[in-house]
Amino acid sequence: MHELGVASEILEVALSEADRNAAKKVTSIRLRVGVLRAIEPENLSFLFEHLARGTAAEGAFLEIVEEPVRVECGACGVSEAPSFTWECPRCKGSGVSVTGGDSLRILSLDIED
Ligand SMILES: [Zn+2]
Repeated sequence: MHELGVASEILEVALSEADRNAAKKVTSIRLRVGVLRAIEPENLSFLFEHLARGTAAEGAFLEIVEEPVRVECGACGVSEAPSFTWECPRCKGSGVSVTGGDSLRILSLDIED
């Protein structure tokens, strides 16, 4: 269950950011997660909620923005796919490379003094 590692990493970043801004509370966290990370949003939220108990991020809302797979095709350029693929979603060609969809980063944090 690798969501646990991810959840604790997010919490760490959120808490240090809150600390740096002398904020008492983290109210929400916007997260961009590539579909290739195979993270269950519900699982991640649950674990985060559990880990954040008793910290400045207790009760913070975790907003997870899914990033689709980015496919670069030699014939028709860049398009997006819902999961890993060897085939261009547009022209069904096979000359593709997957160049995105594995992000894992915090887009923004809402904090309160
Ligand atoms: Zn194509």
